Amino acid sequence: MALDEYRAKRDFTRSPEPKGGRVARRKGASLFFCVQKHLASSLHYDLRLEWDGVLLSWAVPKGPSLDPSVKRLAMHVEDHPVEYGEFEGVIPDGYGAGVVLLWDRGTWVPESDDVPAALKKGDLKFRLDGFKLKGSWALVRTRGYGGSRGDGRSWLLIKHRDDWSGEIDITEFAPDSVKSGGSFGDVLTEELPDVWTSHREGRGGGDTMASLTEIVKKVERFERERAKREKGTASGARATAPRPAAQKTPAKRSRKR
Ligand code: MN
Repeated sequence: MALDEYRAKRDFTRSPEPKGGRVARRKGASLFFCVQKHLASSLHYDLRLEWDGVLLSWAVPKGPSLDPSVKRLAMHVEDHPVEYGEFEGVIPDGYGAGVVLLWDRGTWVPESDDVPAALKKGDLKFRLDGFKLKGSWALVRTRGYGGSRGDGRSWLLIKHRDDWSGEIDITEFAPDSVKSGGSFGDVLTEELPDVWTSHREGRGGGDTMASLTEIVKKVERFERERAKREKGTASGARATAPRPAAQKTPAKRSRKR
């Protein structure tokens, strides 16, 4: 575990992401966790757990599910610097180009006695205390994905049944940032003028401009689809009331009976 792979993948003269370093843990301090919603070549949610001075990281394509019967693929990716846990913004080009939202953050507690052994074995149990994700979870390594032999990077993220599990689709119900409150569109709108100006004046040059144009189109497409989805499921504008909960109102249930 080191940040070599993290650094090798990025050009820090062109990316706003922190270069970071291994951070010594303060005695008795809680362990940090976060989930970053990342619209890159495809949408995914990066689950990061602080351990041994870095953030252990898994990319979860469909995001976490609160339903214990749903197992979500989680690809183990390179360790990230602890500072990365607060990052939100536009990555103009290169690795991970797109927009990052800080979707959830908080603290975590291992439920496995020996974390390094649990990681090695491929069965880590833990509790989360975030704004959106809470309670008991497991990360379990699996044989691979799509029938291949696998490279040991495929894990499953599973919610344990407890007070914090349920049928609510948390990624749809609470889609926005816990840091800025914004959506991908909001973060892009906020940052684009500065990013555009600084990159036009050198650094990535034309490649970055082309990449930025792609990011803008991608976010527009994403927000359009989201608006369409919301129009299709709710009768009003963007729901502030919980849509998923509305599907299981007592009224509907009693009608069935
Ligand atoms: Mn990512």
